[in-house]
This record gives sequence, C-alpha cells and structure tokens, in this order.
Amino acid sequence: MAGIVLDGKAYAKELEAELTARVRRLNLQEPPILATILVGDDPASATYVRMKGNACRRVGMESRSIALPAATTTQELLAAIDDLNANPRVRGILLQHPVPKQIDERACFDRIALDKDVDGVTAHGFGRMAMDEPAYGSATPAGIMRLLRRYQIPLVGREAVVVGRSPILGRPMAMMLLAAHATVTICHSRTSNLAEVVRRGEIVVGAVGKPEFIRGSWIRDGAVVIDAGYHPLPQPASEGRAGGPGGGVGDIELSAVVDRCSAYTPVPGGVGPMTIATLIAHTVEAAEKAAR
Ligand code: NAP
Repeated sequence: MAGIVLDGKAYAKELEAELTARVRRLNLQEPPILATILVGDDPASATYVRMKGNACRRVGMESRSIALPAATTTQELLAAIDDLNANPRVRGILLQHPVPKQIDERACFDRIALDKDVDGVTAHGFGRMAMDEPAYGSATPAGIMRLLRRYQIPLVGREAVVVGRSPILGRPMAMMLLAAHATVTICHSRTSNLAEVVRRGEIVVGAVGKPEFIRGSWIRDGAVVIDAGYHPLPQPASEGRAGGPGGGVGDIELSAVVDRCSAYTPVPGGVGPMTIATLIAHTVEAAEKAAR
C-alpha cells in the first residue's frame, strides 16, 4: 500500500495563515524584520533567500536582504551581523549557508544574538536545544518535527536513522528526535555498512546532499521516510522517478519506496516549504517576545 504523503506544502500554507493573524495582532507601527545575509552569488542560495523574503512579506513582516560580494572577509561579515544585532526592528537574522571558504562560518554564526538566532545556528542556541531548553532549533529539522507532529507519527521508542551530521540539519535533527524519545543513530561519510544501518530505521531521514544517494532497497517496509534533499532535474521528472511538477529529486530514491513505506515527504513539496514556514514562525515568535 502506498505511504501517506506528508504534505509540507499544504501545512506550510496553513501555518502562514496563522502567522499572518499573529503578526496582525502584534499591531506594530512598523512590521518586524527578518534580515537575510547572502554572501557570494550561488544561484541556489539566492533562490532560497528570495523564497524566505517572499514568505516574510506574505505574513505581513518585512524582509531585509543584505547581499555581500564573494570576496567578503570574516571581519566584514561580522560587522554586518553586528549592525543587524543592534537594530531593534530586526527580530530574526538568517545567514545563508554555505558562505565562501575564506570566511570563518562558525565565528559568524556565533555572532548572531541569541534572541535573533531564528535558524538555530549559534553554538549557544544549538546547545540549549540539545539540552531541551527553550531555543529556536534549526529551521529544517524543526520543520520536519512539526510535520511529524502534524501527522501524528509515533516517535517514542522507535528506531530513527539520520544520514548526515551537518550542524544545520543532521545533528540538530538527531537531537530533536532524541528529545522526542526516539532511539537515534547518526550516519556520516565514515559510517561502515551504511545500507545495513539504514535498514534498521523505522524513521529514516536523508540529509546527505547527493541525489538519490540513499537507495530504496536500503529502506525497510513500513518506514517513515523523510527526505531533506532537493536536486533540480534538468528536465521534468522522467518516468519512474518521484520528481514533482518542478522536476527534482531528493537525497533518497523515493520512487522505490513510496509504495511500501508508511509515510514519506514528497520532493518537492515536503521538507522545503516547512523549513521556510518554520523560519517565519520563529521570527514571529521572536517579535512577540520582544513586544511583551
Ligand atoms: P552538508 O553540510 O553537505 O552535509 C552532508 C552530510 O552528509 C555530512 O554530514 C556528510 O558526512 C554526509 N555524507 C556525505 N557523503 C556521505 C556518504 N557517502 N555516506 C554517508 N554520509 C555522507 O549538507 P546539509 O547542509 O546538511 O544538507 C543536506 C541535504 O539537505 C542537501 O541535499 C541540502 O540541499 C538539503 N537541505 C535542504 C534544506 C531545506 O530547506 N529543504 C535546508 C538545508 C539543506 P561528513 O560529516 O562525514 O562529511
């Protein structure tokens, strides 16, 4: 039997309606700002930043986009973050990952004020989240958790396998699943017998960054399959591939599992819209806290 579609696109739309009402209730003369910083000219990053700005405006907030050249130094980026930290209208700061190699990304992430760290990238914010203390978790895994809750996917005591350990995705994902009482295994590029480890997963999260890297044959029947990846295809989805109207695949070979998993996130339309909606939700929450 085909797995349930965990429809991130539809849920994100509902969340946006709720967030619009919350922004209106704040009744501020000047809307709160989500500031995005993009360093360099990576087209995919530029698209993500644009989509976040559009979502911001849809809910009645303002988006301020700071575009810095590829040759920006760590000091220059730190100065830009300091300016945003000092601006009382800026309620959230998003530094788009990845930044060019000459920049100390960790130092720049950590410069973001904790109360404006709506993407959960600071070591302090991550640590608080990992300790189950209030913090804005990283938007992609936090969005996945929202989606799992929405569809009432049981997590307590279940085997979760997360493939990927990046600071913005795999690692916080694992901590959030742990907080929800799953038994969590984290895999990475040095994991031995990856296929065997993935086969243990009742919940499998793909966060690798390689198109359809996680093969369908590695995934057990009845698993919940969460695909965080997105790789545009040059053409619309070809026969037998689980592309969507936008034409893309994720990090998991979804076409081989949709008919025998219990639930899955489509690509596109699963994790991506939830990331954006969650980022906006965190910024609205930060604005509400500041208004109290
Ligand atoms: P990343 O920083 O490149 O991390 C990739 C992770 O995959 C690393 O931990 C790496 O292990 C692991 N990996 C690489 N090759 C592997 C292999 N052969 N076997 C097992 N593990 C392997 O990527 P990311 O930023 O976490 O992103 C992961 C995916 O999520 C990408 O497809 C990205 O586009 C997507 N993403 C989506 C959203 C969204 O909003 N939907 C947001 C962010 C990212 P090591 O640590 O050992 O190198």
